[in-house]
Amino acid sequence: MAIEKSATENYRAAELFVEWLERQITCSGRGDDDTFLDVEPSGKYWLGRLASEDFVANSGLGERGERLEPCAQGIRLRPRDEGPWKFSIRVWAVCWIRGKDRVWRKSERIDEKFSVTVEASSASQTFGRTSLDKALSRIAGTPGLSAEIRTELGSCTNGGAELAIILVNTSPETHKILKDTRLYECKLEISGLNTRPFILEALPDSFRYDRRIEAYGVNCGVSSTVEGDLVTVDTVTASKARPRFWGSTEAEPDLSFESLERNPVSSARGLRDALARWGAEVWGQDALKRRANRYDWSPQMLAEAEAGARDFKEELDRIAYGVELLEKNDLLRRSFQLMNRAMSISSRGKYVNWRPFQIGFLLANLRAIVEPELESDIVDIVWFATGGGKTETYLGLVVTASLFDRLRGKTTGITAWSRFPLRMLSLQQMQRFADAVASAEIVRREANISGAPFSLGFFVGQGATPNSIKEDAPSGDPWDPDDELMPDRLRVLRTCPFCNHETIRMVFNRVLWRLEHQCVSEGCPWPERALPFYVVDEEIYRFLPTVLVGTLDKAALIAMQASMRGFVGAPWGLCSRDGHGFVYAPRAKRQNGCLVPGCESLRGDLPIAESLFGLTFRLQDELHLLRDSLGAVDAHYEALYDGLEQELCGFKPKILASSATLTGYERQAEVLYRRKARVFPQQGPSAVEGFWTAHSESLMRRYVAVAPRGVTIEYAVDRLLTELQRNVRRLSSEPERVCHEIGIDSRYAPDLLSLYGTDVVYGNTLRDLDAVVRSMETQVQVVGRLNTDSLTGRTEFESVREILRRLEKPEPDFQDRLHLISASSMMSHGVDIDRLNVMVMLGIPLTTAEFIQATARIGRRLPGLVFVVHKIGRERDAGVFRSFPKYVEQGDRFVEPVPVTRRSRRVLERTVAGLEMARILMIHEPNSKVSLATLRALKKYIGSSRFTFSGELDALVAYLGLNADVDPNICSDLERWMRGFERNIVDPLPGMQFPSDASPTGKPMRSLRDVEEQVPLFLNRIP
Ligand SMILES: [Zn+2]
Ligand SMILES: [Zn+2]
Repeated sequence: MAIEKSATENYRAAELFVEWLERQITCSGRGDDDTFLDVEPSGKYWLGRLASEDFVANSGLGERGERLEPCAQGIRLRPRDEGPWKFSIRVWAVCWIRGKDRVWRKSERIDEKFSVTVEASSASQTFGRTSLDKALSRIAGTPGLSAEIRTELGSCTNGGAELAIILVNTSPETHKILKDTRLYECKLEISGLNTRPFILEALPDSFRYDRRIEAYGVNCGVSSTVEGDLVTVDTVTASKARPRFWGSTEAEPDLSFESLERNPVSSARGLRDALARWGAEVWGQDALKRRANRYDWSPQMLAEAEAGARDFKEELDRIAYGVELLEKNDLLRRSFQLMNRAMSISSRGKYVNWRPFQIGFLLANLRAIVEPELESDIVDIVWFATGGGKTETYLGLVVTASLFDRLRGKTTGITAWSRFPLRMLSLQQMQRFADAVASAEIVRREANISGAPFSLGFFVGQGATPNSIKEDAPSGDPWDPDDELMPDRLRVLRTCPFCNHETIRMVFNRVLWRLEHQCVSEGCPWPERALPFYVVDEEIYRFLPTVLVGTLDKAALIAMQASMRGFVGAPWGLCSRDGHGFVYAPRAKRQNGCLVPGCESLRGDLPIAESLFGLTFRLQDELHLLRDSLGAVDAHYEALYDGLEQELCGFKPKILASSATLTGYERQAEVLYRRKARVFPQQGPSAVEGFWTAHSESLMRRYVAVAPRGVTIEYAVDRLLTELQRNVRRLSSEPERVCHEIGIDSRYAPDLLSLYGTDVVYGNTLRDLDAVVRSMETQVQVVGRLNTDSLTGRTEFESVREILRRLEKPEPDFQDRLHLISASSMMSHGVDIDRLNVMVMLGIPLTTAEFIQATARIGRRLPGLVFVVHKIGRERDAGVFRSFPKYVEQGDRFVEPVPVTRRSRRVLERTVAGLEMARILMIHEPNSKVSLATLRALKKYIGSSRFTFSGELDALVAYLGLNADVDPNICSDLERWMRGFERNIVDPLPGMQFPSDASPTGKPMRSLRDVEEQVPLFLNRIP
C-alpha cells in the first residue's frame, strides 16, 4: 500500500511540475515577469502582443499577415438570446517605452472595464475608444497609442446570430516619441452575456462524441473563468487523460500471468461474465433510449448506436467462444497456459498481469489458431491508444500459436512473420520480441515439448543487415567474414533474452557459417553457445525461425530468392550436415542447395510434412501507413504470398494488423488483403467510457498550441527550448526554491530533472529540422553544456542504438546527458522511452495519424507536455489552431482515409514480373527438381508441359482476384505481358540469359519501396 501511495504522489508531483513549466513558458513568451529590456521587445516576445493596424495593413500580406502578426484578438461566440445584447468588456494591456538611456521599460498595465450594447441591427460597431485612448496615454506618458473594441455581427452556420468581439490596436505605425506602438500582454474579457455553443461541422455527428465548442478565439485561444466569463488566452490548450484499462464498476478479475497459467478457464470466464454484465447495462435497449433522450439524438444517431450495440454483442460472442475453446481443446489450453508462463518470465516482474483488453483480444482470436479455415478470411486489427501494450498482445497470441504448433506436430518452420512498414523497427521492439521468444523456449524445454528450439529472425532491408556473408567477399563489402569488427556491427540485441544480462558477444562462426549472438554469462539458462537469433537473411532461410520480425519492403525478395520458399511452403530438404539447416534450389556454387559455402553434403529429408511449413500468421504493424503506391504494390505481393501458400500448403495464413486509426480500415483491408476486417476492441458507448478503456483522473498529456506573433517559427522554437532548458535546470541549481514555487517537496527535484530534462523537437521535413538544429546550436543559450543529437532517417543504425541507450540509461550527471533531440517521423514508431516527456512540434504534420503517433511518444508513463508551434501562415495550421482542443480530443475522427487501390495498371506493370518470377521459383523450380536459374533451363522445363503460359495467366488472375468483366484493362495488360514473356522465352533476344530478362516490363522490384513516391510516409527518408 505504501508503494501504491508514493506512486500516486510522484505522479501528482509530475502533474504539478508540468502545469508550472507550461506557465513559465507562456509567461516568458509574453514578458510577464520582465520590467526592463536592453533589446527591442518586438524581437523578444511572441505571445500576447498586438501590432498597429496600420502596420499590418501596410505589410501587404493580407489575411496571412494578419495571422503572422495580428493587430487584433478577440472572441467569436453565439449569443443565446435575441439582441440587443448588453454586456461588460474588460481590457488589459501594457506598452514598452524606450528611454534616453536606450533601455526599454515596461509601462503600468491598463485595466479598463466598460459596458456595451450591441444592436441586433448593426453589422459592426465600435466601443471604448475614448477610455482606452485615455488609459493608454496615461501609461505611455504621451498621447498617440490607441485601441478600440469592434463588434461584428453575422449569422452562424449553425443558425442564429454570431458575434465577434475584438480588441484592435488602432495606434499609428510609427510615433515620434514612442519607438514601438505595439501593445503587449493584451487580454480581453467578456462578462454578462449568455451564449450557446457552436457545433463543429467539420466532424460528422456521432452518438459517441461531443461536437460543441463554447466559443472560438480570434488569433488566440479562449477560456471560461469560474464565474462563467469568457477571456482570451495566448495559447490554446487541450489535455488528454491517462486511460484506465478497466471500465466496469465491478472488481477486476484476476488476470495475473500466474492465475492464467494455473487456471485459465476460470479467469477467462470471469472476464467474459463481467463484459456481458457491463454490456447489458450500457448497450441495452433501455440504456440507449435513456441516452437518446438525454443527448437529443437524431433517429440516425440512435440507429448508429444500435449498430454499435450489435458490434459489441459480436465481440462478446467471440470472447465467449474463445473461453469455450479453452474449456474443450486440451492442446490449446496447454499452449495458452504455457504462454502465460512465458510472459511472466519475459516481463521479469516489471508487470505481473495482463490488462483486460489484452486477454480480451487473445480470447477473441484463439479461434484463428484452432479453426484457421474459418478465420483466415478476416483481418483482425488491434486498435488501441499507443502505449496500451499492443506488442505484448500480439506476442501473446504468437507465442500461443507457436506452442500449439509444436504440440500439433509442427516441430520446425515459421509460425509468424511480423512486418513493419518502416526501417525504424526499433531495436527496443526487437528486444521485446526476443524476450518473448526466449521465454517461450525456456518454457518449451521445461515442459519437454519436442521440436526445434523457438527462435527469432530479424529480416530487414539491406544496409542494416546482410543478405548473406560471402566467403570471397569483394573488397569494400561491409560484411566481410575476415573483418573482425563486422560481427559487432550486426549486434541487434543488447541484453541476452534468456538471462537479461548485458553479456552478449558477437562472433562469426566460420565452421557453421553463422553470425552468432553469444551470451557469455555463467548462469545463462540457454545451454548452447549461439542464441537462437538470426540476422543474416541466408541464416533465416537455413533455420526458418519460429518468429520473424522485419520490414515489409523485404517481401519483394521472393521473386529473386529461391531460398525464400520456407515463407510460403516447405524447403527442398535438410542438409545432412549438422548445423547447416534447410536446403533449397541447386545453383552453380551449391549443387545440393545448401547455403553454407562449399558444402557438398547430401540433401536429407524434411522432418515434417510439407504442408506443415505454411505460416499461421502474417502480421502487419502500422497498417495505416500502407497507402498510396506502397499500399498498391504490397496488395499484389500479399496476394502472391497468399496464393503460393494456398497452392503449396492448402491454406492461407491469418492476418493480424495494428493500426493507429480506424478511418476507412474496412476498405483498406479489402484492397490489401482481399479479406474482411474486424477491429478489437470495439469502442464504448461514448468517447470517454468503455469496458476495455475509460478516462482516468490523471493527466496523460498536455497539448499547448502556440501561434507565434511577429517572429519566425525558428525563433519561437529557440525561445521555447531555451526556456524549457533554463527552467528545468533550475531544478538542479535551486531545487528548494523551484519546488516551493511548484508546491511540491524538494525531494522530487532529481527525478523531475531526469524525466523532463530532455526535449524532443519534432519536425515534419528535414529542411525544418536542419534549420532548427543549426539555430539550436547557437541560439539556445543556457548555463552549462547543451548536448544535442538527432533521430531521423539519416541517423546511422549504430547511432540510433547509442542514442536510445543514452536516453534510457542517462548519465549520472545532468551536464553529460542528452538535452535536445531533433526527430523526424522515424521516432514516431516504436521508440518507447519513459524519459521523453517534453516535445516541441514544428507545424502540424501532413496527416493527423502522424500527429497522433508522434505526440504519443511523449508522456508514456508520466504526464507529458507538447508544444505545438503552428505555422500559422498556412491554412491547414490555422484551421487546426482554431479547433485545437477537438483536434486533440477527437483526433482519430480527423484522420484522413487512407488512399489505396489494388487495381492500378501502372502498379501492375511494376509488380507483374515479380509475381511470375516468384511462381517460377516457388512452384515450378521445385516441381522440376533442377535449377531453373537460366532461361535455357526454363525453356527446357516449359517443353516438359508442366508449365503453360495460359496456366500462369490464370494463376495470376486468381491470385489477384481479378475478373475480366470488372477489370478488363488490367486483365488485358496481364495477358499482353504473358504473351511478351512467352515470346522472349521461345525466341530470346541476344543477351537474354536469365528468366527475369524475358520479362517485357523489366526485372522484378528489389524492394517494395522501389516505387516509393509518397516519401513523407516512410521513416527512412523524409523530404
Ligand atoms: Zn544469457
Ligand atoms: Zn550443408
